Amino acid sequence: MKQSQLFTKTIKEAPKDEVSVNARLLTRAGFIYKNSAGIYSFLPLGWRVIQKISSIIREEMAAIGGQEMFMTALHDKHYLQSTGRWNVDVIFKVAEEGKEPAFNLSWTHEEIITEIATKYISSYKDLPFAAYQIQAKFRNEPRAKSGLLRGREFLMKDLYSFHTTEEDLFKYYDKAAESYKKIFNRCGLDSIYTLAGGGDFTLNNTHEFQVLCDAGEDTIYVCEKCGYAENKEISKLGDGSKCPKCGGPVKESKSIEVGNIFPLGTKYSEAFGLKFSDEKSEKKYVVMGSYGIGLGRVMATVVEKFYDEKGIVWPKAVAPFEIHLIQIGDSPQVKKTADKLYQDLQKAKKEVLYDDRKDKSAGEKFAEADLIGIPLRVVASERTLEKNCAELKERSQAQMKLVKITQVLKHV
Ligand code: ATP
Ligand code: MG
Repeated sequence: MKQSQLFTKTIKEAPKDEVSVNARLLTRAGFIYKNSAGIYSFLPLGWRVIQKISSIIREEMAAIGGQEMFMTALHDKHYLQSTGRWNVDVIFKVAEEGKEPAFNLSWTHEEIITEIATKYISSYKDLPFAAYQIQAKFRNEPRAKSGLLRGREFLMKDLYSFHTTEEDLFKYYDKAAESYKKIFNRCGLDSIYTLAGGGDFTLNNTHEFQVLCDAGEDTIYVCEKCGYAENKEISKLGDGSKCPKCGGPVKESKSIEVGNIFPLGTKYSEAFGLKFSDEKSEKKYVVMGSYGIGLGRVMATVVEKFYDEKGIVWPKAVAPFEIHLIQIGDSPQVKKTADKLYQDLQKAKKEVLYDDRKDKSAGEKFAEADLIGIPLRVVASERTLEKNCAELKERSQAQMKLVKITQVLKHV
């Protein structure tokens, strides 16, 4: 992509109403646009990051047998009324002019998928199965001040699994947990598997995937010896307590919940009459689990973990582009060399943002490149061409190296 054609521009000053690092940097660099409090559009650069995260999630969901589907965002009220959740406080209700609300915007999809499953599941032979989607959720969060970490509209990957027994559910639950660990790892995040509270709709406790970060809204206790962790909201532990697993010292830390998995049991299948007949033709309720990841929250967490005073420092796997090729000065020779590099890199299937703009100084181009945060910068200027070279610099490193133009492809 040529930067001269990118319709977004970087902004020098962060918007005054944004306080979080992720919203300030992502807005300045042209990744997101705030339409209303807690409601953000993803611009071309931001959408590329979301697509990278989605691809990682899709690969890992496929690896545990998740079938992708896409459910509705507008839900008739009978769904939430069936489980007594119609009056949950964060739900956005939708009413026709002058009428009582008869719909809500999707805040979760357990009810929707459970009802769908009643049409297709009747025998133990139909189980187990797991299906997921990547879709918008709407929650009227009381204080949407953390940028993409807490949106009122946000993208979630939600997976639902269906089983004949609790034993089978928990086998899958562990598999999903492994898959989540991989997903966050691949996105550059170290996640901590954390015990969290259960509720009316779960068999017992749930588990969260927490990333240590001062910008987080959660507090967790993590054992410094064995890594066992609990969310403060349920925990009897305190800072310095002994770990209930190994006796090691437990430390209190701020963290961000990037994922949450729930052993649901039969609450939803009971509400919708989702039953199967077992080998003895006995009718039983299907046992369910659900598993969520916030895509925007993952993106925001990456920014909160990887930035410096100049801007974002994307890990390779989720960066909007792999290479930021920068042309400095517009003598015919520089232009010819940079254009050729751009073509060659594209031919080699590299994702390149090519700063071919004529009206920007070298200083402006470098500052913008640092703000946008693409992992590798390749610069072609009159000075580097004197030595038949381009200058390569990783965003995360201070040092640069000169590489012969003919060798650039080998080095990237
Ligand atoms: P939280 O405790 O942070 O409010 P939650 O436990 O209500 O979240 P879940 O229903 O478990 O959220 O949602 C699954 C995942 O969706 C979360 O782990 C998080 O990654 C993401 N998520 C939840 N709420 C939001 C939000 N308001 N904005 C962005 N992502 C969110
Ligand atoms: Mg949660």
